[in-house]
Amino acid sequence: MKIKSLLYYVIIFILPFTIAALLVNNNIVEVQSGWKKEFYFHHINNYNKIFNTEDYITENQRKIDILHYDLFFDLFPDEKEFYASAVIKGVVKEEGLKKLELNFYDNFKIEEVKLNGIESEFIIEDKLLTIISDDSVPLDTFEIKVTYFGTPKKAGLEGFVFGKINGTSLVYNLSEPGYASSWFPCNDFPSDKALLDIRIKNDSSQVSVSNGILIGIEDEGKRRTYHWKTNYPISTYLIAIYSSSYQHFSDEYISLDKQDTMAIDYYVLENNVEDAKTDFTEHPEILRFFAETFGEYPFIKEKYGVAEFLWQLGAMEHQTITGVASNIIGGKNFFLDIYIHELAHHWWGNAVGPKSWNDIWLNEGFSTYSEALYFEFRSGKSALRSTMLDKSQGSFSVALGKPGSFLFSGTIYNKGAWVLHMLRWELGDSTFFNLLREYYEKFKYSNASTEDFKNVCESVSGINLDSFFDQWLNGTGKIELNCKWNSKSIENEFETIITLEQIQDGYEEYLFHIGITFKYDNGELETFRFNIDSINVELSVRSNKKPVEIILDPNDWLLMTINELIEN
Ligand SMILES: [Zn+2]
Repeated sequence: MKIKSLLYYVIIFILPFTIAALLVNNNIVEVQSGWKKEFYFHHINNYNKIFNTEDYITENQRKIDILHYDLFFDLFPDEKEFYASAVIKGVVKEEGLKKLELNFYDNFKIEEVKLNGIESEFIIEDKLLTIISDDSVPLDTFEIKVTYFGTPKKAGLEGFVFGKINGTSLVYNLSEPGYASSWFPCNDFPSDKALLDIRIKNDSSQVSVSNGILIGIEDEGKRRTYHWKTNYPISTYLIAIYSSSYQHFSDEYISLDKQDTMAIDYYVLENNVEDAKTDFTEHPEILRFFAETFGEYPFIKEKYGVAEFLWQLGAMEHQTITGVASNIIGGKNFFLDIYIHELAHHWWGNAVGPKSWNDIWLNEGFSTYSEALYFEFRSGKSALRSTMLDKSQGSFSVALGKPGSFLFSGTIYNKGAWVLHMLRWELGDSTFFNLLREYYEKFKYSNASTEDFKNVCESVSGINLDSFFDQWLNGTGKIELNCKWNSKSIENEFETIITLEQIQDGYEEYLFHIGITFKYDNGELETFRFNIDSINVELSVRSNKKPVEIILDPNDWLLMTINELIEN
């Protein structure tokens, strides 16, 4: 997921809407085009209050493994209702299980619940569906079928939405992190991946889009059903529905081994087609760059797709069908970083999923750093530096490895990206890119934790990275250095003494390497690399010429602020 930059909100949303928000008591603001949108800060603050990483998952849920979801939604946008069924196949991992539990919101009218073809007793309470078995559930495949109807409740950042823009219906969802269960029963945590068949029925004027490949379209009077199928494992939060009067156009990507020609499919509303054609042109090139850098696109037998939706805060990386806000399609490529970010998620987040929500930086930090990598590829080292400097602002007050309910804070995205940037500096380019490829290869179609990533880093580099990961994942903030230096003439040489003192809050003693460039009076530059292994260090350098200036971390490899760079 990527939320547009704060500056964008200050200009576009906050100024004009502050007054409106005050008038409507900081709740829902009606925007002139007719669709509903919530005020940004209300949105995020409200969200942070309601989501608590994983205490919504019961012990029983961890004793089962869902293998396949077969979902059907019969949509009635005018009534904001659907009729739905979910057939869920799974296996029991522990003997003696007497009841099956799934996350599911309790606001629907449930018509029937069947376990292995037999109507079953159930309880739905506190967003949990409990299916009681007469005997224990056998240790092989089980099948649950739930038939239900109603209007989905708003959940998290969106949930399932029957939206409208300029009189046009647009049905879509945004479920990350734990809100897929607001529209279908599921094991709603990222590490229980499953396969998926999804059928979406709507008026025949509407195009319905989802994950994976289109298996078929069926017409029945004025109703049309689209059947989509996913042959790669998918997490529940990445399952998507889009249904609207979309215009479709496409592009293609040829795999690195030239064996596969994959469609890149775009679904946008008619008034955005020309702008979208301009904005989306770079997708094949971004795909190729990431394939060459990380390994082939993980869903090469299916597609990459982008569909316009009405969550106006940014975009969401639904597997093989990213949702992008109408208002980021502008025909000027102004939001290229968002398109890059969502595509990068297909490696980081979708193929290699997080083991738990505490590992969210493995999604967001990696996709954010991928933006910088693509800009580096496109425009060189200065683009890498400027992109990273742009992401260095802020206090980073959340510990990256323990995000709590701040899953989508700037720390997770920007400090997450910086951790990779600093890892690259510590290990060097060839080791860094090798370990990314190895990590991707090892965990694609599965899930990884921070510990898994650290293990790959250590095995590829042969270096113990305990302090690196501890300081950057468990500490808060960044390095803050006081620096003093002086240079004296000794015999025919100059001796320069540099003293560095770490004064940051949030982590007592960072261990790191730093580059220091000496600028001599004849304009020549010379760079040295030092190992900083203590909170106070004194560095001594002998040179033939007198330095007139010294520059700490000249290429911006460290998340750091420097105070009092005094010559004396
Ligand atoms: Zn993201």
